[in-house]
Amino acid sequence: MTQFSSYGPRAAPTAQHTRPYIDCRDLFKIYKRADLEVVALRGLDLAVESGELIAIIGASGSGKSTLLNILAGLDRPSAGQVMVGERDLLDVSDSDLVVYRRSEVGFVWQATARNLVPYLSVADNIELPMALAGQPAKSRREWSGELLESLGMTEKAKRFPYQLSGGEQQRAAIAVGLANRPPLLLADEPTGELDIENADHIFEMIRGLNRAYGVTVVTVTHYVGVSQFVDRVVHIRDGRIGSETFSRPDYRRDGGTVEDEYVVVDQAGRLQLPIEYTDRFRHGGLAKIESEGGQIIIEPPDSNPRPTRNRS
Ligand code: ADP
Ligand code: MG
Repeated sequence: MTQFSSYGPRAAPTAQHTRPYIDCRDLFKIYKRADLEVVALRGLDLAVESGELIAIIGASGSGKSTLLNILAGLDRPSAGQVMVGERDLLDVSDSDLVVYRRSEVGFVWQATARNLVPYLSVADNIELPMALAGQPAKSRREWSGELLESLGMTEKAKRFPYQLSGGEQQRAAIAVGLANRPPLLLADEPTGELDIENADHIFEMIRGLNRAYGVTVVTVTHYVGVSQFVDRVVHIRDGRIGSETFSRPDYRRDGGTVEDEYVVVDQAGRLQLPIEYTDRFRHGGLAKIESEGGQIIIEPPDSNPRPTRNRS
């Protein structure tokens, strides 16, 4: 019998399952159009643990949507490795990919209109994927009711999408994404069309659902305030992971989060710096590089000079 009061054990890692839930290694995606090749992902490495909530940030064209579409089973990678749970998405049959898309992932798009069927009520939108998966009516209603309640949308169950605000539409879209209790929720700029207040609200809700149901979440966003809602922010640059920022709730200060950004050496052996550094170098000219006591210190040229030591 299907469990309906909780998400069930699917998202939990098994004893022998030591690999991260999402494991991308040296992942490539090359789009070919006529005689033109676009390398959208070039050797991307990314590991996401089961139950983790991460945000992916990066400039337009850096490969964020390409990565999400591959994880969603909407697009196939060109080379490398991409495992989600026990599934190898580089070597999966078309029919298995259909099963994967239907039951293993929920997806929220940026465009609110793309997420909901316009002529169905909010409740019916949420129950549609469950009906397609063969769930009986009573359990469909119970689960859509629970999701709507978690999202503060109980009063809006009978409304049609056009009768909702943008933020409410995205909340309904998240409920649709979770309808079949997927272990993975993917969202591509889910707050791209919302103001800051609504964006905060949406990320707060995503975090609440992540904590309540243990669903792993990967969200792409441009919203700079996202770091306070997620476990980790991953920066993607030119189809590779540039650097990572870990939010540590135990170091919270003034409602904000202290972050450590780690510098990463990329596949070509180049050092990738946190974006604020590269911005400062861009505006201030070349960096100063010093070697001191086995440590290399890289400083933007416009930074305050450190007290000079008496070298004589
Ligand atoms: P982002 O979501 O970070 O803005 P995308 O993943 O959409 O970036 O795109 C990464 C690169 O791949 C871009 O150069 C884009 O033009 C190219 N690209 C994306 N989708 C396709 C496609 N279907 N055909 C050809 N090129 C594509
Ligand atoms: Mg995109």
